[in-house]
Amino acid sequence: MINLRKPKIVILGAGYGGLMTATRLQKQVGVNEADIVLVNKNDYHYETTWLHEASAGTLHHDRVRYDVREVIDTQKVEFVQATVEEIKHEENRVILDSGEISYDYLVISLGAESETFGIKGLKEYAFSIVNVNAARQIREHIEYQFATYNTEAEKKDERLTIVVGGAGFTGIEFLGELSNRIPELCKEYDVDFHKVKVICVEAAPMVLPGFDPELVNYATSYLEKKGVEFRIGTAIKEATPDGIIVAKGEDEVEEIKASTVVWAAGVRGNSVIEKSGIEAMRGRVKVNLDLRVPGKENLFIVGDCSLIINEEINRPYPPTAQIAMQQGEICARNIVALIRGKNELETFEFDNKGTVCSLGEDEAIGTAFGKKFVGAKASFLKKMIDNRALYMIGGPSLVFKKGKFNIF
Ligand code: FAD
Ligand code: NAD
Repeated sequence: MINLRKPKIVILGAGYGGLMTATRLQKQVGVNEADIVLVNKNDYHYETTWLHEASAGTLHHDRVRYDVREVIDTQKVEFVQATVEEIKHEENRVILDSGEISYDYLVISLGAESETFGIKGLKEYAFSIVNVNAARQIREHIEYQFATYNTEAEKKDERLTIVVGGAGFTGIEFLGELSNRIPELCKEYDVDFHKVKVICVEAAPMVLPGFDPELVNYATSYLEKKGVEFRIGTAIKEATPDGIIVAKGEDEVEEIKASTVVWAAGVRGNSVIEKSGIEAMRGRVKVNLDLRVPGKENLFIVGDCSLIINEEINRPYPPTAQIAMQQGEICARNIVALIRGKNELETFEFDNKGTVCSLGEDEAIGTAFGKKFVGAKASFLKKMIDNRALYMIGGPSLVFKKGKFNIF
């Protein structure tokens, strides 16, 4: 008997991985071939890679987001605004806050969450740069501290202390934005710049562990000149209502008083993964190279919830937008192959386009095309990378609408 029912493809999450999958599927799949459903918590997509700017207040949060419907073909992709609560993968259904949805093929692209490693007080007293809501709150909180400082008879200098936990790429990019924003805040709220302290606490013995040392030196001295104080080889042990406690030597600890603590010291995959009983390491699932979960013919995972080992160094590839987007393209092609009855699937092979770390509006460091870049050239490259991501998902119209053109 011929099965006339169209297969149903459900994509969870409209971030880099999810939107790449959806926009490629809508191009490659005929309306009569499959039903495609995209589920996302918000009706908007946000550029996770720009959230440090919205958090510091150097870019308005509306600039980092756009309506999901702007980039999907609603004739081909049904958009459902809902929060995913659990995936019943044995029964091919997804539980949403507003009901449930069944599928024949599922793509999980729910992104990352902050990893607090169980450190006491972080969830209660520290912020994390994880989504638009969080970014808005960080910006408002910092601004409130500056606005309040001069209203108090007894000045509390800790209001003007900002601790950034972690000198990975997120921490460093946020520090770059902060160092541009703070002089503006000082001017706006009549605060003496010398009263402001920005302290970056990094557990590893170097900033940007594993990155090119020459570029790291450039970034560190640039940020130090802008007033950032680095506490390297220093681990945050606890966050409190008054600041943080750090390890000092073998047994000693030290308190750093700060009204703002931003935890940028690591990410994990979405907690929905573990809640759904899918085997994972910190919410990241070791997928096959065809991006399917081992033993699951119809379950794909792309982006920060997936984990693939880089055989060259025998360590997982870092969770990046670059990888999420490359995976989205492969995932779409593999689903098309499956619904057309082909069993030969493509495998993921990372095409490394380089890494650029911004240090604010017009400064950056990076490696690309086998070369190192610093300063305005690196910053230009960073903006081109940001624009390319928009182009890949929404074409030239999205670049015109949301792109970064303040390039010189
Ligand atoms: P995301 O793009 O984060 O998308 C996840 C989507 O799922 C979101 O739309 C979210 O709303 C939705 N969602 C989450 N939970 C639910 C739920 N329960 N129900 C429904 N929807 C849900 N990488 C780079 O390659 N280059 C960079 O320059 C870079 N810069 C970065 C800067 C910052 C500040 C940060 C935090 C990260 C940066 N990264 C960068 C990493 C990069 O952002 C991530 O690797 C990338 O976003 C992962 O894509 P994704 O599709 O897995 O998740
Ligand atoms: P990360 O894991 O890359 O860095 C976290 C840092 O925090 C590390 O240096 C670690 O040593 C430090 N740390 C951990 N525990 C600590 C503690 N208790 N006290 C002090 N420091 C501690 O995390 P990230 O920077 O959020 O990056 C997440 C992912 O996003 C990475 O894959 C990264 O490559 C990617 N990303 C890329 C870019 C870019 O390409 N420009 C920008 C941002 C993020």
